[in-house]
Amino acid sequence: MKLALTLLLLIGQGCNTKTEKQENMGSDKSELNAIFPKGEKGSEELFTGNAFNIGLVDADSVHTTAVGNVYFEPGARSNWHIHPAGQILIITDGVGYHQIDGQPIEVIKKGDVVKCPPNVRHWHGASPDVGLQQLYIVPNTEKGIVEWMEPVTDEVYKSAR
Ligand code: MN
Repeated sequence: MKLALTLLLLIGQGCNTKTEKQENMGSDKSELNAIFPKGEKGSEELFTGNAFNIGLVDADSVHTTAVGNVYFEPGARSNWHIHPAGQILIITDGVGYHQIDGQPIEVIKKGDVVKCPPNVRHWHGASPDVGLQQLYIVPNTEKGIVEWMEPVTDEVYKSAR
């Protein structure tokens, strides 16, 4: 559990733009379609804004894979970081951003699957107006899970628009 908590990502809430989105949000409009428990708020040293993480699968000697969910409120995002063994993101609701260092910001939304290669500097988080629900899968955890770096500046974040 502790390992999973130190992992990664984020989350999002809010959702006030699209009608079709609102129809799918259910009763809790602030947290989109929350499949899993919200978990604990991520450290301000690792995230900008409010992001909540819950570990779902702890790595062990048989399954060297960690799985969890992060919910980013609108505007929230991770710091820059790398995963020594890479990471897979499965977006289950909302709209967010993913950026590999040196490349344009990529918009990610419900139903998208994103592969983050090993040792590639990147960040992910919610869009400014709509949060993000994302599952993360970290394989081969014996190589390490995450190495954190500096926050994503507002300038970089706003460049997505
Ligand atoms: Mn990541």
